[in-house]
Order: sequence, then C-alpha cells, then structure tokens
Amino acid sequence: MPHITVDAEICKGCGLCVRACPKKILRLSPTVLNQKGYNPAECVDQPQCTACRSCALTCPDVAITVYKD
Ligand code: SF4
Ligand code: SF4
Repeated sequence: MPHITVDAEICKGCGLCVRACPKKILRLSPTVLNQKGYNPAECVDQPQCTACRSCALTCPDVAITVYKD
C-alpha cells in the first residue's frame, strides 16, 4: 500500500509538503517536537496516499520517503 515516512529529526516544520499534498493528508504535528524544536510533518491518513511524490519532491531537506507498495 502506498505510504510515506517523515524523518522527524531532519524536518524543519516549513509546511511546504502540507501545501503540496493533493490529498491533504499531511499536517505539522500538534504534539511532537523534534530535537531542533520544530513540529515535524506527519501523515494523518496513510490509506489515502497515492505515492504521487509531490511531498517528497517539495521537501527542501529530503525528509520524506515515499513507498509505492
Ligand atoms: S505521496 Fe502524494 S498523496 Fe502521498 S502524502 Fe505525499 S503528496 Fe500526499
Ligand atoms: S517540506 Fe520537509 S522540512 Fe518542510 S515540513 Fe515537510 S517534511 Fe518537514
């Protein structure tokens, strides 16, 4: 099943991936803070992911990995 992972320690909480996702299933975590003090991105509905890669291509820090299977 398509899904993504976010490396929460690399993420700087810029929100670009949140805006890029056509399925609107990404958000900045309201509860998690990484070591740098940023709220990292997270996926709230993995089954809706189409593995389109828009989020990964948009991320300036290459924090997102997309899995097609
Ligand atoms: S791969 Fe596409 S659908 Fe899946 S989270 Fe990223 S932008 Fe959204
Ligand atoms: S685009 Fe990358 S750095 Fe920015 S919030 Fe998304 S995962 Fe984090």
